[in-house]
Amino acid sequence: MASIFKHDTIVGACVSELLPSASGAIEDMFLLASADRALPDHQFTQRDRTYIASFHATRDSQGHVSGLFVVASDITKRMQVEHHLREVRRRVVATNRRDHLTGLLNRRGLEIVLHRELRRARRASNRLSLLAVDIDWFKSYNDSLGHPQGDRCLRAVADKLVGCLRRGGDAACRHGGEEFLLILPETDIHGAVAVAENCRKAVENLNIVHRDSPNGRITVSIGIAHTNAVADDSPTTSAAAALLLDADNALYRAKGSGRNTISV
Ligand code: GH3
Ligand code: MG
Ligand code: MG
Repeated sequence: MASIFKHDTIVGACVSELLPSASGAIEDMFLLASADRALPDHQFTQRDRTYIASFHATRDSQGHVSGLFVVASDITKRMQVEHHLREVRRRVVATNRRDHLTGLLNRRGLEIVLHRELRRARRASNRLSLLAVDIDWFKSYNDSLGHPQGDRCLRAVADKLVGCLRRGGDAACRHGGEEFLLILPETDIHGAVAVAENCRKAVENLNIVHRDSPNGRITVSIGIAHTNAVADDSPTTSAAAALLLDADNALYRAKGSGRNTISV
């Protein structure tokens, strides 16, 4: 209280005038005390500061409530520290879900987002599509130009893929070395094919020279999987695993049919 109330303004003053923001609570406390109920603490803000007030009833010789003893503590600083800690925690959690090289979601981030989107898709009986994107002939690119150049290429491809995602709910993840996963909520197979074809072309148009590739530049192969509109009732963990497996199988077929291509 020392921060805004001075001793000579407190003594003899009416509590509800000193603490107008708590005056409603004070009335409630009288009612609760008269009904012999417990008096809960009350948090309030006054002149940009936050207080927590605890109340104790005083009673006359017949046991009737004769007054309230109020202790209000300024907790502004504590609230600021708590807010700061929450913010730090939020940032740490976000960092744990991101791939350090590309800034995309990592496997942990993907797991969380994919399960959340699968649950959402089921509730709304929506379709959800998943694209597995893998850079073609990347080992020879890395081996001939070196790891740092390989990393630069990975970042460029990651940026391009993110640029191909247009909707708010879409998410991109780096799933392993040179493999990415794109989650497309509320997207049926036609939409997914269109996004995949955009991604394929966009990476090709980056024109990153790759001498050991038959295409002469960096390209990607893409496998597409999608959920059925009819909500199935298997747990989301097995639905997610089945979707990942489908996308992986489709990717394998895209690789088998010559690379720089998409497969459903
Ligand atoms: P395919 O067309 O069948 O996909 O062939 P590929 O050579 O791309 O596939 P493979 O799985 O044989 O090689 C992947 C290579 O990706 C191996 C490694 O050199 C490279 N790689 C994996 N992780 C990283 C990374 O973090 N940074 C860099 N620079 N390269 C990586
Ligand atoms: Mg590859
Ligand atoms: Mg691979």
